[in-house]
Amino acid sequence: SPQIVWLRRDLRMADQPALHAAAQAGPVIPVYVLDDERAGDHAYGEASLWWLHHSLENLGKSLGSRRSQIVLRRGDAPQVLAAIADEVGAQCVHAIRHYEPWWKEAEDELRDALGEDQKLCLYDGNYLLPPGAVTTGSGDPYKIYTPFSKSMLERMPPRDTLGEPQTVSSPDHWPESDNLADWNLLPSKPDWAGGFREFWEVGEAAAHDRLDWWTDHVADYDEGRNLPSDDITSRLSPHLHWGEISPAQVWHKLKDKRSDGWKTYAKEIIWRDYAQNVIDQFPDYPRESYRDYDERTLWRNPNAGHLIQQDLECWQKGMTGYPIVDAGMRQLWKTGWMHNRVRMICASFLVKHLLIDWRFGEQWFWDCLVDADYGSNGVNWQWVSGTGVDSNMFVRIMAPLTQSVKFGAADYIREYVPELADMDDDCIHDPPDDLRGDYPVKMIEHKAARERALEAYRASKT
Ligand code: FAD
Repeated sequence: SPQIVWLRRDLRMADQPALHAAAQAGPVIPVYVLDDERAGDHAYGEASLWWLHHSLENLGKSLGSRRSQIVLRRGDAPQVLAAIADEVGAQCVHAIRHYEPWWKEAEDELRDALGEDQKLCLYDGNYLLPPGAVTTGSGDPYKIYTPFSKSMLERMPPRDTLGEPQTVSSPDHWPESDNLADWNLLPSKPDWAGGFREFWEVGEAAAHDRLDWWTDHVADYDEGRNLPSDDITSRLSPHLHWGEISPAQVWHKLKDKRSDGWKTYAKEIIWRDYAQNVIDQFPDYPRESYRDYDERTLWRNPNAGHLIQQDLECWQKGMTGYPIVDAGMRQLWKTGWMHNRVRMICASFLVKHLLIDWRFGEQWFWDCLVDADYGSNGVNWQWVSGTGVDSNMFVRIMAPLTQSVKFGAADYIREYVPELADMDDDCIHDPPDDLRGDYPVKMIEHKAARERALEAYRASKT
């Protein structure tokens, strides 16, 4: 009988265990359901929708070359899938397990919606190890990154990867499908995605091309990963997030590299697994703090006053007067991505220099990033803010100007802040006020911001 494959963030042909198992069991009906109500305040942002459109288009073409297709539907995923299963007489829905709370809920609902002779078969496939698989000596899941990472490394390499299924046979009857174009996932007017098109190639083949490129560059990662002016990170994050490539594929391709660069890189990929372990344990992590601060005293709330709202907007638009922060925020707007070191600097600036609740930053990133990920975004915002279960401290306040000099951000600033394109290396990190021209003066001096943050922190400790 026909086998349904429920696609979510696993938009690939190779090393896709759900597709693989379905293809071995019978004719395959791949289904993608756009279920945009379910995630509430974490419904896909504009940048994610842009990526999703191209990724679905891409996978559709790959399946098309196998005389297959993706059935596209909009609505409540469990209901839609159960209805398709009934229509085609399918006995099994195959899917890769997801850990966002709304997807875990949908998996439960789907089990209930399927008939007695139908089942949901879930597979691991999007992480190095399934969240919850690595535990402390007492059998509990880890809360803190460092011991988690150590245990993970002891359990590596990950499982062997699968190739593409040999055949993907079609059913006699295809259920109806929407047209991707009718979903209007791409911007219409204004078309803000020009920078995205320049910066990215979407899809499984592009992910593997980038991985090939990365195998020749990973050795430089240890030194280079902090330098935003140079292209020395893998930029695989959106491909990994959307499941166009699996972390096991990345690991196996690189594991023989034996450089310090690879060792450092392995630990970064493990951060991705760690984030899923955190949201698996704390489903509201991207929404709630886990420290005993009185948050009403700590944060300035943009909804409570026009001036605070204006501060938030200056940060969002890259008009803070701190070139490294503005370059980062404009890179994010233009390309849907930001260099990791600069993500830390920009996030720290919002929560410490401007004392704005990290959730406003988390939401902005959620809307703007092509790799916006419920776990990774929430965990990193909480880490920078010092509000989460992991141990970074609020009182560690990054100095953006020092960071900019230390990590040689001059060319990066020139690229994303054109007002400063002609400024020399000595001035560009902190231009004198009389040379700024159209570029804004600093919203707040670093020293004053630091003192204000420390004071608010002292007052909010309960
Ligand atoms: P590389 O440096 O090449 O790293 C390799 C891979 O490891 C990445 O592709 C990513 O999958 C993973 N990774 C690396 N660092 C981290 C990390 N700190 N946490 C989790 N995974 C990591 N990453 C996201 O994928 N989605 C997000 O929504 C996201 N939000 C972030 C928000 C803030 C405030 C900060 C500070 C970081 C955030 N990150 C997020 C983590 C990190 O910045 C990006 O994964 C990285 O910049 C992606 O670029 P890359 O692929 O070149 O990374």
